[in-house]
Amino acid sequence: MEDNIINSPTPPDERNFRPLTLDDFIGQSDLKKTLRLMLGSARTRSTTLEHVAFYGGPGLGKTTLAGIIASEQEARLHELSGPSLMKPGDLAQVLVCLQRGDVLFLDEIHALKRELSELLYSAMEDFKVSIKPDGVDKPITLSLHPFTLIGATTDYGLLPEPMRARFGQSFYLSAYTIDELQAVVLRAAARLGYMTDEQALNGIAIRSRGTPRVALRLFRRCVDAAVNLQTDIIDGPLVENTMPLLGLDMLGLEDADRKYLLTLVTVYNGGPSGPRAIAANAGLDLATVERVIEPALLVTGLIARTPRGRRVTRKGYAHAKSFAVKLPVINWKKVENADSEISEEIAAEQQ
Ligand code: ADP
Repeated sequence: MEDNIINSPTPPDERNFRPLTLDDFIGQSDLKKTLRLMLGSARTRSTTLEHVAFYGGPGLGKTTLAGIIASEQEARLHELSGPSLMKPGDLAQVLVCLQRGDVLFLDEIHALKRELSELLYSAMEDFKVSIKPDGVDKPITLSLHPFTLIGATTDYGLLPEPMRARFGQSFYLSAYTIDELQAVVLRAAARLGYMTDEQALNGIAIRSRGTPRVALRLFRRCVDAAVNLQTDIIDGPLVENTMPLLGLDMLGLEDADRKYLLTLVTVYNGGPSGPRAIAANAGLDLATVERVIEPALLVTGLIARTPRGRRVTRKGYAHAKSFAVKLPVINWKKVENADSEISEEIAAEQQ
């Protein structure tokens, strides 16, 4: 996948912006309510918190929540990533070293190899692991201290059923609203000692694809511009002048996003069409289309999901007009009818 402003790796200083308490964590109010209840109950009963899973797109706050859970429980946090674990022994070694109440954060848990997932089942359920050291015929079973596993994934559907069943609670992280993203940026600005205004906050928030990590990254580029201008005020004009330098338009779209939108409108007359066909026609790779471009266009309301693929919305068409020389006239009745096809199919089946 391309390394762009949306996908580039988390810089080390991002940790400075991570909230440490649930109160400081912006948005996701239903999730916070349930989590607060679970944390309170575990504290009162002096037990370890049940295992929890967080799922949702990158940059929505899964790692941050793991840190919050550990700090709210005054527990030690250990961080691992599914793809980095090669052998069952690697995981077993970490598990046996956990102390009572420790929090183990396992990122990209869907990418765990099968033998490792199986090892995790008994660790999660009975706090036991069975391992077979080299040169020994029979496996040996080791008891573990009770711990909390926090699994994070962008692909919840890829988790094996026995794994899903062993989480006490699975939380979905949804895209953030403009107001919430503004609050994320305001908090970072206050921390770094910059003044902002409404126009600046809004200019960053609308281009952030519903994602705090993107909002913070765009904000950091505005800080760079402010440093260059020797000012500690990040205002609307500064933001609006900085965004085009990053290749971002009024709604935060990059070149690849615009190519996708234009293909949907010009080649497929607004759709519906499947991501594979759009990707091939636009010269984009399918993984980038499915994981980066479509989620952003959906959250910005420029395309919509239908049973037969994606279609452009009226807002998407208007936006495409802002950068395309000539667009075909869209038959909106046909394009928007695609949304209701599923209900018609269900009605037909029921008759
Ligand atoms: P994920 O693990 O889902 O990829 P992270 O937890 O690493 O996402 O979050 C990315 C960045 O966004 C972090 O710097 C974090 O501080 C910030 N962030 C994410 N969610 C929130 C939130 N709800 N409130 C404030 N900051 C947030």
